[in-house]
Amino acid sequence: MGNIVAIVGRPNVGKSTFFNRLIQRREAIVDSVSGVTRDRHYGKSDWNGQKFSLIDTGGYVKGSDDIFEAEIDKQVELAIDEADAIIFMVDVESGVTPMDEEVANLLRKVKKPVLLAVNKVDNNKRLENAVEFYSLGLGEYFPIASTNGSGTGDLLDALVEALPETEAEEETELPRFAVVGRPNAGKSSFINALIGEERYIVTDIAGTTRDSMDTRYNRFGFEFNLVDTAGIRRKSKVKENLEFYSVMRSVRAIENCDVCLLVLDATRGFDGQVQNIFWLAHRNHKGIVILVNKWDLVDKETNTLKDYEAMIRREIEPFTDVPIVFISVLTKQRVFKAIETAVKVFENRSRKIKTRQLNDIMLPIIEKNPPPAYKGKYVKIKFCTQLPTPHPQFAFFCNLPQYVRDPYKRFIENKLRKEFDFQGVPVTIYFRKK
Ligand code: GDP
Ligand code: GDP
Repeated sequence: MGNIVAIVGRPNVGKSTFFNRLIQRREAIVDSVSGVTRDRHYGKSDWNGQKFSLIDTGGYVKGSDDIFEAEIDKQVELAIDEADAIIFMVDVESGVTPMDEEVANLLRKVKKPVLLAVNKVDNNKRLENAVEFYSLGLGEYFPIASTNGSGTGDLLDALVEALPETEAEEETELPRFAVVGRPNAGKSSFINALIGEERYIVTDIAGTTRDSMDTRYNRFGFEFNLVDTAGIRRKSKVKENLEFYSVMRSVRAIENCDVCLLVLDATRGFDGQVQNIFWLAHRNHKGIVILVNKWDLVDKETNTLKDYEAMIRREIEPFTDVPIVFISVLTKQRVFKAIETAVKVFENRSRKIKTRQLNDIMLPIIEKNPPPAYKGKYVKIKFCTQLPTPHPQFAFFCNLPQYVRDPYKRFIENKLRKEFDFQGVPVTIYFRKK
């Protein structure tokens, strides 16, 4: 279960600088609203071994203060709704501004941890000046300098201390599904078609450490949890900024699920935003089922379905081993098939292959197709094993792991997929020294 930390604050206080310092891997979330492509900053970080995702919600409002003013409530509201903790960044150079006060007013009411970071504290004079930020009524603040990192350690100590407990991802018996996709793809309709009637709800398990919710259902003879459907109900409240809202919701839902049901609108295709969500799920090692919805709206000729499927597979290369189900929520077409497929992907993701069986099958394949010599070196793979992680990862032990090239890794991955069925599941392969 990943925690999400949002950074809020006016433009130019140093949010991006701070963000870039912290993240190890940037996840490009780019979305296009009315033709403008904006970069939403999102990435993974970890401090003292505790992992979290960091979102710079202000990444998208560059420009003058009055533009920002119109956006501020929305930005903070998003953070309040979707994050587990909030870092509110202010700038000692400019001192307390009216907008800082406005943000502070919103944040004072929040039940989640709020950390006030006073940035650009580069010298002792500024350290003294920082005192004025007590007036925001948010209590203790953290003087930092994002450009050189000073003070950020204390801030991060306090942050991970304040974050809700996260259990390491557990192997649950019940699949956790997240229904994700662009606004208007038909996610709510899908969920309603699936579970609309209260009688399918088994229990409501309110998250104990957070306000998200897993709801347990029994439908078509399958038991499963739907992750964070509460957010979908809340959606109607947010009329503008829907796209960004859906991105943040996707991030959250994806981090907390086993399998993503990626719903797309057949009439809109597999566009950039859908791509983003797809690769987000992939990088988080989640199972994926692609549901092409509104299939009722598409004029069909002999090869329409085949062509459509081929188009999607081109878009998701090289991770093409993903089930694609054509559905219509409106006409209730293949909704059962969608869930059945998601359950299958969950099983694939949970599959544990005994070391003996793995070696019996893989070693002869490797012997027949050894890694090609590289720089005159021959790689000898001696042994392989599946790692005891919630998602499939394999270690291949050999003499010269550094000489195994990507094409060979792909070859091994494809063989694993063929022999053991990991459809819909990202598989990680490591070569290690024996
Ligand atoms: P954002 O709009 O809040 O994301 O702000 P940026 O990260 O783009 O930073 C705005 C400006 O403040 C840039 O010119 C940064 O170099 C500068 N800046 C950021 N952090 C510090 C700092 O710790 N000290 C000083 N002196 N300048 C900083
Ligand atoms: P969400 O924003 O992804 O939750 O999308 P909604 O479930 O609110 O659906 C958006 C619109 O698409 C609504 O007007 C639905 O009635 C319509 N819709 C959903 N599924 C289908 C479908 O399979 N076929 C057609 N024709 N329309 C659909």
